[in-house]
Amino acid sequence: MDTASAVQMVTAQIERDRDFPVELTRELVRIPTVNPKFESAAGLNRETDAQRLVAAHLAAAGLTTEQHEVFPDRPNVRAYRDGSGDRSLVLNGHIDVVPVGDRGTWSVDPFGAEIHGGRLYGRGGYDMKAGIAAAIAAAKAIHDCGIELAGRFEVHSVVDEEAGGFGTKGLLARADAPSAVIVGEPTEEQVMLCQGGLEWVRVTLRGRNAHTGWRYNDLYPQRDSADRTRPGVNAAELAARLITAVGQLERDWGCRKPAHPLLPPGVNTISPSVVQVGAGLGADGLPATMTNPAITPDVAVIDFDLKYLPTETSAQIRAEFEDFVAHWAAQDSWLREHPPVVQWELGDLHFPAFDTSPDFPVVDSIRRQRAALGKTTEITGFVAVCDGAFYRPAGATPLIYGAQGADAHGPDEWVDVNSIVDTAKVFAAAAIEYCGLRAAPR
Ligand SMILES: [Zn+2]
Repeated sequence: MDTASAVQMVTAQIERDRDFPVELTRELVRIPTVNPKFESAAGLNRETDAQRLVAAHLAAAGLTTEQHEVFPDRPNVRAYRDGSGDRSLVLNGHIDVVPVGDRGTWSVDPFGAEIHGGRLYGRGGYDMKAGIAAAIAAAKAIHDCGIELAGRFEVHSVVDEEAGGFGTKGLLARADAPSAVIVGEPTEEQVMLCQGGLEWVRVTLRGRNAHTGWRYNDLYPQRDSADRTRPGVNAAELAARLITAVGQLERDWGCRKPAHPLLPPGVNTISPSVVQVGAGLGADGLPATMTNPAITPDVAVIDFDLKYLPTETSAQIRAEFEDFVAHWAAQDSWLREHPPVVQWELGDLHFPAFDTSPDFPVVDSIRRQRAALGKTTEITGFVAVCDGAFYRPAGATPLIYGAQGADAHGPDEWVDVNSIVDTAKVFAAAAIEYCGLRAAPR
């Protein structure tokens, strides 16, 4: 058999079995797997139950399955069928979901998995239990058709993507990376070839405590400045100045650095997202006292969410940001003596960028299969970040492709039922063409 016939046979099998990925998505939605880092409550954090179901289906599809807990009661599933490493493909998906939010804003039960008008509603159906179900359906159809792949084929169902990708990081620390990975995040069936990098960076600024009663002496220097009225240096005001300066750097990045052809211009932003100011530096690195306005605050801690371009590296960006802060501080007599402290990987968060070539063969497989489904293919980039980030440094070429739907992380999240089935077909075709067929034994 040639690969084209194998693809035809397997996609026809998925079509015959089209209820399977849809019903599996529904089953998975009905098992709430809210990431416990965001909301911990009885019955809501059932990643273990969902992963048990995922692993059982993958084992039935002839894959060897392993489960490893990344955090207590939060296991990853790695399922694989052995084959050569140089044409090995992973289908990756995350089982965790974000909280429902205000239930009153939902018009359906968030964990009911109701289908209306071809839309499957529920938290995590779109982002991204449909992607996991499509990957399992692809594995099942390949198995049902008796197709043996030459390259190693794997499915990774991971926990904790929504809180920083610690599931995928944990999985890759234990297993050999594949040569290619499709991350099944919902992309509206677009092929997303790149994403920028993300860093959380903390800048700590130190001022000087004083009674705020002496502030006049800072604003209006007095003829006789006795030590008793030595004014403080207000860390809140230092923070305000730094935030303004970094805002200029952000605009400069957006205007000066050429935009990536697959991404909107200006996605390389630096958001000052968490600002904490007070008096005294606590052992936790945060201000010890934050409730006494009569003290000139001497500690400001600013946490920035910093996005950079797919063409840039983390090392480059870190050096650039640190230089900027150092030059800014050098212009001020106080800050020259009390330089800001810059800390990276806040909360261990660190998403490297990736920039996959449009010539990557999986892109062509997806395009061909979509053409067979009567669809054209749009190539674009991902403006957020996903687990594809961690496969790249491990040696795999990533791309993102997944189902159509809407309202990820919002009320009435839904995924298109037909799109789940088509995504399974695209995954199966990509796996067969990329991994190749195993030569029949003589
Ligand atoms: Zn997601």
